[in-house]
Amino acid sequence: MVVDAPLVGVLALQGGYAAHTRVLDGLGARVREVRVPADLAGLDGLVIPGGESTTMSLGIDREGMAEPLRALASSGTPLLGTCAGLIVLDRAHLGVMDIQARRNAFGRQVRSFEADLRFADLEGGPVHAVFIRAPWIAAHGPGVEVLAEVDGHPVAARQGHVLVLSFHPELGDDHRLHERFLEDVRAAAR
Ligand code: GLN
Repeated sequence: MVVDAPLVGVLALQGGYAAHTRVLDGLGARVREVRVPADLAGLDGLVIPGGESTTMSLGIDREGMAEPLRALASSGTPLLGTCAGLIVLDRAHLGVMDIQARRNAFGRQVRSFEADLRFADLEGGPVHAVFIRAPWIAAHGPGVEVLAEVDGHPVAARQGHVLVLSFHPELGDDHRLHERFLEDVRAAAR
């Protein structure tokens, strides 16, 4: 049944898609790696992973995926964008979310760091988040709800069925944010 084992796509053009696939599989979703527009058919949710946003955007254009991805988003299918995936969803790229990402926002020197993030509506204490040359959200519209910040900069946000995270929830063994995403996916599929 769709509702029990939702079908979740992971955009697999570039970047850290394999780790998302493992986490989602471990949480009981059916997972499909997405490389061409036809792979989007019938998905209950989609993850856009971290990686390199310029390369990923080039791949999206090359494969003719931009319009199909926008159509998927406007159909109300839950989306999760992490790190480069956050950038790809912003105003300057797919324009799916009313945010402006700032690439490598924590500075090129600070390539990687970890931080404990408090999410108001998540049980079980703070999320231990891994940031790798991460963006932050430099500006956002009124429809965007900021869920967590580092030094006053939004690093997690939601706009309706679109959830974005600056960091890498697929690394480590705390999968509460993927679980949260799958709750949205199941609810939307119902
Ligand atoms: N710095 C990368 C970019 O701007 C994002 C890094 C990541 O996804 N881990 O595309």
